[in-house]
Amino acid sequence: MRIVLLGPPGAGKGTQAANIVDEYNIPHISTGDIFRKNLKENTKLGLKAKEYMDKGLLVPDELVVDLVKDRLLQDDCKQGFMLDGFPRTVFQAEALDAELKKMNIKLDVVLNVDVKQELLMSRLTGRHVCKGCGATYHISNNPPANAGICDSCGGELYQRADDTEETVSKRLQVYNDQTQPLIDYYHKANLLKNIDGEKEIGQVFEDIKEILAGVK
Ligand code: ADP
Ligand code: AMP
Repeated sequence: MRIVLLGPPGAGKGTQAANIVDEYNIPHISTGDIFRKNLKENTKLGLKAKEYMDKGLLVPDELVVDLVKDRLLQDDCKQGFMLDGFPRTVFQAEALDAELKKMNIKLDVVLNVDVKQELLMSRLTGRHVCKGCGATYHISNNPPANAGICDSCGGELYQRADDTEETVSKRLQVYNDQTQPLIDYYHKANLLKNIDGEKEIGQVFEDIKEILAGVK
């Protein structure tokens, strides 16, 4: 299964991605996670990406596209993959199409997780992420059993530097300007499936499973 997860910041892509990769045994490729990992390791790429991430802007296409191309060529992607947070611009989508064509493969489905703008600010400013395993919680919608501690691995929870009100506002604006056009792009390619991301987390996953069962 080759899946793209589309949707605004805070729609629940990462939350659902964790469920999907578990169920379908495919690698989870999150460009945001890759940048954060690089930053943690102080690589050149991580430090460059940080300049944009801190401002709520997209990292330039040329820094993202090659990274994803290399990732898709790794062995674990042979059985499929799930892209989360990529593509985010029409340029990236076209580059992905070209690369997949070269590899002689196609996307199976693009899941567009739809959540209205008014809900996204509180989802993001209330998001807590595990330092150890990356599991995602929400201070009120999806709290851990013990405050500040990950249910899965016991790791410490933190708030992302770009989950402040000011940066979230910018990220939502950037989404509207640069990423939303991909909904139409993938609709025209006949790959788009809309998911109601305002339902409860477990129900969203049930809806996704139903769609994926019909895809392949
Ligand atoms: P994205 O990866 O799309 O930016 P996340 O998966 O990190 O979004 O979710 C953003 C926040 O919203 C997290 O705090 C998460 O716990 C919460 N969340 C995710 N899905 C739902 C949902 N269906 N209902 C309520 N809160 C949700
Ligand atoms: P995310 O973890 O998906 O919320 O992404 C966090 C940040 O990483 C974004 O606000 C961007 O600055 C950067 N980023 C992640 N994916 C991409 C991408 N495909 N293109 C450009 N920037 C990206």
